[in-house]
Order: sequence, then C-alpha cells, then structure tokens
Amino acid sequence: MAYCDHNATSTLRPEAHQAMAQALGVTGNPSSVHAHGRRARGIVEDAREAIADLAGAKPENVIFTSGATESNDLAIRGAVAGAIAQSEKTSARITRLFVSAIEHSSVLKTAEAVVEHSAGVRLDQLPVTADGVLDTEALRVALREGKGRALVAVMAANNETGVVQPIGEISRLVREAGALLLVDAVTAAGKIDLDAALCDYMTLSAHKLGGPQGSGALIVAETAPLAPLLVGGGQQKGLRAGTENLSGIAGFGAAAKAVRGDGVERARVTALRDRFESDLRRNLPDVVIFGEGAERLGNTSNLALPGLHAENMVIALDLDGVQVSSGSSCSSGKIAPSHVLSAMGVADDLAGASVRVSFGWDSVPADADAVVAALVRLAGRVRSRSAA
Ligand code: PMP
Repeated sequence: MAYCDHNATSTLRPEAHQAMAQALGVTGNPSSVHAHGRRARGIVEDAREAIADLAGAKPENVIFTSGATESNDLAIRGAVAGAIAQSEKTSARITRLFVSAIEHSSVLKTAEAVVEHSAGVRLDQLPVTADGVLDTEALRVALREGKGRALVAVMAANNETGVVQPIGEISRLVREAGALLLVDAVTAAGKIDLDAALCDYMTLSAHKLGGPQGSGALIVAETAPLAPLLVGGGQQKGLRAGTENLSGIAGFGAAAKAVRGDGVERARVTALRDRFESDLRRNLPDVVIFGEGAERLGNTSNLALPGLHAENMVIALDLDGVQVSSGSSCSSGKIAPSHVLSAMGVADDLAGASVRVSFGWDSVPADADAVVAALVRLAGRVRSRSAA
C-alpha cells in the first residue's frame, strides 16, 4: 500500500504514539493541585512549549483545542465577539472580514455564519493568481477602500495545492491598515518555518504533522481580541473551558518536537516529490501540475490528467494499492470542482480530472513509484478505451 494522502492525515509518528501511551497511563486532571494533577499539568505545559517553538510563538499564547476546525471557529467568532466586549468604542469593532478564496471550509463557512448572525459585519473574498498565490494588490485595495476594522484570513500554505502564501507581505499590509490577521498554518506547519509574530491568530492541527486527530491549537497574540466559544471550568485562562485532552496534547507536543527544524526530513520529502513529478511528466507529458510556477510545500502535488475523472481515479488507484485524494468532489453524479482550483481559474473539466498526491515523513521512493505506475496504467486503460 502506498499511502500518499498526508495532507488529509499524516501517519502517527512513533514519538507521538509513545507520548500518548505514557499520558494515557497518567491519572490526574491538569487543573488539580495535588501530585497527580501536577504531573498531568507538566505534560500539557511541555507540549505547549514544543508547539510554541514550532510556530515561533510564546507558550502562554497557545490555546489547545479539538483541532483546527475549532481553532478557526474560535479565532473568527472569538475575534468578532471579543472586539465588541473589549471596547465601548464602535471603532474597535470588526466590521469587515476578508478571507482568501482558497481558505479551508472551516474558515469560509465560519466567516459566512458570522456574517449571517451579526449585523454590520461584511464578508469579502480575496482573489488568487492563476498559480494560487494571494493577490496582494487586491488585499491592499480592499484594506484601503473598505471602512471599519477588518479581520483578514489567509492560510500559510494551501492544503490542496501546497502553494505557499506571502504571509510576510500580507502581515505588513494588514498591520499598516490596523487590521487583524488569521493564518491557518495547518498544512504549512513543520514544512516551512512559521512566525506567529506576523499574525494575531494562528491555527494548527496535530494530525497533519504526525500527531493524533482531534487535537489542535490556536495561537493568539496578547493584543488580539478573543471571546471564548466554550465557557465553564475556566481552563486555559477562560478562553477554552474543558479538561484538556491529555493524551491528544501529549501526542501533539511530541509530533511538534519530532518535526521541528528537521531540514533533513523536508529535503528528503521534497526530493521525493520532485522526482515523482518528473517521472510522471516523462511518462504522461500532458499532465498538468497546479501551482507549479509558485513556491510550494515540498510534499504536495496536485495534478490533472485531461480526460480522466477524479473520483474514478481515486477509486481505481485505491484498487491498485495507492491512496490519494480527489482534487474535486462528486455530488449527485456531477463533479463539483474544488473551490481552490476554481479560484485559480482552472476550467471545470480539468479540475474534475485532478488528484492530490501528498507525501509525508514516512514516505519512501517506492510510494512515489507506485503512484506513477498506477496513474500510467489507469491513463493507458481509459485512453485506449476512449480511442476504441
Ligand atoms: N485547515 C486546513 C487547511 C485543513 O486542511 C484542515 C483539515 N482538512 C483544517 C483546517 C481542519 O483541521 P481539523 O481536521 O483538525 O479540524
């Protein structure tokens, strides 16, 4: 089996597995003051430091959550509600949301929900170039022309294409405009260096970097407004109530430590992906690789084979022992093109012929070879059938 869907969920790292097993053996609530409680607290704080380190943040700014969906939700709803609570002045309120057109649905849908439920908040999408990079000129114009305080959401790197976004420049524009910035760093974490100081909110998810599912974090700058979604026991400075998921946090911390600064792993995975793309192109010269002209994460390849059908590709490859994900989804028999590829101006039929191949820390050259071989076999079968 060649598992090449690490952007969906990566393999659990042995370090994370071990840390989780140990944490499961610890009895004690991290909020309890007795010895058992303090031991549990130690595990949480150790993980907090590792995650802060990975993100270029201060440990006290890390809030543990149930994953990046919750983190994005907390950031967007929490910023809007927190800005209202923070100040009597209406000028402090967030009245505009600017989200890039390629954000994950947990950002897009939360922003839509906030606009639906809060009067006086407006939502606009920011376009990307044909290579999938945020159009920073459009952001500049939007920030200048819009009235009121804004929250801008741009991911560090896209989960479908791997295209890296110019967060440094975006941060500068956002700061100049007195706006707030949310960076979804879920896909980028561990694959490029992160600097939480460039933004007000940063979201992370453990299972994308070799930790467990259901464990994530939101990093919040001291100055950024934030109202909690979950209230109750007052854990995590009252910003996210609920007893911490000890084993999930332990696994997240161990994965963050294992991946941090590991240039060797990055270089190895990038070489594997690059060889995969050149082998594929040699065998199937009409392959289209999205975002190829932009800076991309070293592990991701989103490609289309004209004339093939994404859903059938995923199923046929699975039968052939290769696991990838479809670039676009099929609903009621019709291909729904990926919103990311659509935003890049990719035509529906080409988007409907795309799959995402994403490698991870335990990928080996044989995995890449298996994907190439399976795609070549499949394209041969489909194309000889349509020629007949
Ligand atoms: N953001 C991005 C870019 C993602 O890829 C995902 C997961 N598909 C999420 C957020 C949501 O993360 P989680 O699965 O931890 O809720």
